[in-house]
Amino acid sequence: MSENDPSFEAAAKFHGHTCPGLAFGFRVAQAALRELGINRSEDEELVAVVENDSCAVDAIQVLTGCTFGKGNLIFRDHGKQVYTFFKRSSGEALRIAVEWQPPPETPEEQAAWEKFSAGDRAPETVALVQARKAAKMREVLNTPEAELFQITRPQMLPPSPARILQSLRCERCGEKVMESRTRGVGDKALCIPCAGG
Ligand SMILES: [Zn+2]
Ligand SMILES: [Zn+2]
Repeated sequence: MSENDPSFEAAAKFHGHTCPGLAFGFRVAQAALRELGINRSEDEELVAVVENDSCAVDAIQVLTGCTFGKGNLIFRDHGKQVYTFFKRSSGEALRIAVEWQPPPETPEEQAAWEKFSAGDRAPETVALVQARKAAKMREVLNTPEAELFQITRPQMLPPSPARILQSLRCERCGEKVMESRTRGVGDKALCIPCAGG
């Protein structure tokens, strides 16, 4: 697998750069499509539940056609590299958990990363950080799938589609807000930002 694969290029174009996270999402999406026997979800046949909002999710959106806008991409903020796919037509579920551990960094790489995180943008620091990222990305693209993921087929139903609810007007800012997202403050129904998060 390489960064010249057209579907990886499409994901990179959408995402804006290439990175190890995007490569993970690419491998996850490829595994899901193959295991569930589908090409790309043009309708809402496939549902993806993602447990993080990292770079990986952009590749998953491009390759699988599961998107926030269509409602077949669901984000659960668990901070886990776990992706579950549901094929509506067959009732199958596929859970992909990332197992892979990147090889340990050299002290030199670690020092460069620490400097970079602290805001150092000296050319040699940036070059080291970018070389490390590029190498990690190639590793993700080329590591055998069995070392990257644990793939299981749980007996699970897809999350039910979001109901369309009535909108109210927030009693502080006056903007429209879905009824189920209003918060009662005193005797007023407010949107979440007006209620103070
Ligand atoms: Zn990225
Ligand atoms: Zn408001």
